[in-house]
Amino acid sequence: SFERIKPVVVANWKMNMTLASISKFVDDFGTESFSAEVVVCPPSPYLYILDALKKQQNRSFTLGAQNVHAEKSGAYTGDVSADQLLDVGCHYVIIGHSERRAIGESNEFIHQKVRQSLETGLIPILCVGETEEERKQGKTNSVVEKQVLTALLNMNDISKVIIAYEPVWAIGTGQSAVPEQAQEVHQFIRSVLIKHFGILANQLPILYGGSAKPDNAKDYSAMNDIDGLLVGGASLKADDFKKIISAFC
Ligand code: PGA
Repeated sequence: SFERIKPVVVANWKMNMTLASISKFVDDFGTESFSAEVVVCPPSPYLYILDALKKQQNRSFTLGAQNVHAEKSGAYTGDVSADQLLDVGCHYVIIGHSERRAIGESNEFIHQKVRQSLETGLIPILCVGETEEERKQGKTNSVVEKQVLTALLNMNDISKVIIAYEPVWAIGTGQSAVPEQAQEVHQFIRSVLIKHFGILANQLPILYGGSAKPDNAKDYSAMNDIDGLLVGGASLKADDFKKIISAFC
């Protein structure tokens, strides 16, 4: 039998927040510490200042980025490398979010990003999930399996990977997946990981994302294979976000 996986709760601020609202968030977050791993992912211009503020004020969250480029450095105007993210205090990076897949990121490109992040020492939070159309057609499992296996192709050590299951139809819609419905996919993802990477996959955090909020966080935390949440809208206010974290502590 395995110990319960340490829960991970991630704030994905997307293209929101300013210096003023970030400083308020840090103030409001307070000095409480949590038994869950808490990760906050601001837009990249704010990574450095958020790291400085959280250290100065002793806040118990860790820094993550919302995206990273696949190459180590070079002529990639507008992009940010894994080394640079590490340099400004990041430990995590969201990869393959549906909002980036929607603007053209392929499973193969996502695979390269995961590889680069792992080589650099960043923990990738790999997002997968089906669209509403794919769910209606009964393709949820096959879509998610392909996303997971392509991203992790030929990797022999996935012990530093986090998966986030985010059904596209649940993101930013207020229409969260029923916990049992999410659990079913999480269990499927777990079985795929165990089949391909062995029993250690039992220790890999699988997060749910899609309209998670203070009201439903506890219901997700009650599910066997839901090891945390990736939170968008409800992570912008420290009070809401802390309620969500508490559901996993
Ligand atoms: P949401 O976003 O919580 O606003 O639905 C989640 C995500 O996209 O990571």
